[in-house]
Amino acid sequence: FVNAPDDLNQLIESARAFGDRVCVAEGDTHWTYAQMFARRDALAGILDIERGDRVAICMRNRSEWMIGFLATIRCGGVAALLNSRGSPSELCAAIDDVSPAVVLADSGRAALLREGGYTGRLIVVADFPATGTAPANITPAKKSDPAAILFTSGTTGRVKGAVLTHENLMTGIMGTQLAGTMVLHNTARDLKIPVSVILENMPQQVTMLVVPLFHISGLGASFLSPLLAGSKIVVMRRWAADEAMELIEREKVTMFSGVPTMMWDIVHAGKGKKADLSSLRNIGMGGQAMPVSLLNELRAACPDVVMGTGYGMTETSGSVAMSMGEDFIRNRASAGRVLSLVDVRIEGPDGNVLPAGEVGEIVVRGPMVMQGYWQRPEETAAVLSPDGWLKTGDVGLIDPEGYIFIVDRAKDMVISGGENIYCAEVERIVNAMPEVVECAAFGIADDRLGELLVARVVGDNVDAAAIIAEVADKLARYKAPAQVRVDAAPLPRNDVGKIDKKRLRTEWTRTEGNPA
Ligand code: ATP
Ligand code: MG
Repeated sequence: FVNAPDDLNQLIESARAFGDRVCVAEGDTHWTYAQMFARRDALAGILDIERGDRVAICMRNRSEWMIGFLATIRCGGVAALLNSRGSPSELCAAIDDVSPAVVLADSGRAALLREGGYTGRLIVVADFPATGTAPANITPAKKSDPAAILFTSGTTGRVKGAVLTHENLMTGIMGTQLAGTMVLHNTARDLKIPVSVILENMPQQVTMLVVPLFHISGLGASFLSPLLAGSKIVVMRRWAADEAMELIEREKVTMFSGVPTMMWDIVHAGKGKKADLSSLRNIGMGGQAMPVSLLNELRAACPDVVMGTGYGMTETSGSVAMSMGEDFIRNRASAGRVLSLVDVRIEGPDGNVLPAGEVGEIVVRGPMVMQGYWQRPEETAAVLSPDGWLKTGDVGLIDPEGYIFIVDRAKDMVISGGENIYCAEVERIVNAMPEVVECAAFGIADDRLGELLVARVVGDNVDAAAIIAEVADKLARYKAPAQVRVDAAPLPRNDVGKIDKKRLRTEWTRTEGNPA
């Protein structure tokens, strides 16, 4: 990337060229690229911030969220992305953490912030100006300047603010786009036609935004990346399967990426409905493992759609591994192939580097790795080495061809009677059973064994004993869950759609008591 700019604004500026194309579809309102830039410049004109000031964005998915983000970095500010589903005290805690110069909020969130005791400067979306000009003579950002603070989703513990620089965000987006470009080149080669012919004839892509913008998957893959590709972005304020189907039909959505649960919703809400999904070309899913039965159902429901998956995290500005199409179907147990901009290695317990095929902690380095956690030097030092290697806290292996296989999260390992059990390994066996829709294995406290492995499984005609027998048959006997509870309803999820294991643990001990 010798010619890549240092400043994300410069990349964004290039999207002005898409002028009258629709940039954002929001209900019945369609905003063109030209209109989005005009609204950005107008807000930038009244932000009144210094370089490096934080601007907290606190709203549901909507065009003003995007305007707020673009205006903030245009003025040299750092956008702090608050979880719009937080309670008043959670929102105010995040605000205390980043001490913003100003907060941009929708009316609902503004009320919550006031309720939580926030008394600082606040601009609500109703007061966003329609016209105006951005301040002149802003010095361009250096690539190491912070551009955003994103909070991790809190699956394993306390939420932390990851500071992502201009370079981090640019390379995070490029990683995804490179993979797309690779597919383009492969297609051209297979059809024996020049890439330019494909590009000239390529209709505008339509991306549906189904994940929260405050999460890296929303910001990178569903907002910045499509923006730079001149796509139309169809906004969903929050996930609802029926609405998603309607939008796909009405706006002729060609692609979206979400978590596996959403795919389940589409497949199931889709049964018996006549929504026309024929515009869909690409579906991406990531964030957690995908049950095989679900993937098969999805392929049956949308046979012409190219599917893909990725592995990444907030701290790496998005995906560090991806695979799609045939590559994905052939290696569906893998979370993707390591992208070219990233170095990945697997470390043993003493930080020793392990050979291909061996299981250890996944450690990554590259221009997309965060600068650190906002004002938490100790927590930063615990995961980020001085020479730039980031400990992911995920356990896995890389095969000789560069495919990553996630075995588990280091913190999602249960130690039962001195034996280590990776929850993900058990979940993979259970997820492969055709009657299973989703499952979660986790540890509960046990006086004798320290921890006891239990599981909750969702699906029709699921038999708890059959689940236990299947795991005991496929894995070491001690890895079979001691108890399995079968659910009809989906498992509880956190705000970004991941199974909430903390809640599963408390629910289990509250309703079942300690079985020991
Ligand atoms: P916290 O760090 O606060 O506990 P979190 O790790 O869930 O929260 P995110 O940054 O949203 O926050 O998620 C990144 C994690 O998601 C990865 O470290 C990994 O454990 C998991 N993950 C991402 N992609 C995949 C995938 N394809 N397969 C399995 N797990 C994945
Ligand atoms: Mg994490």
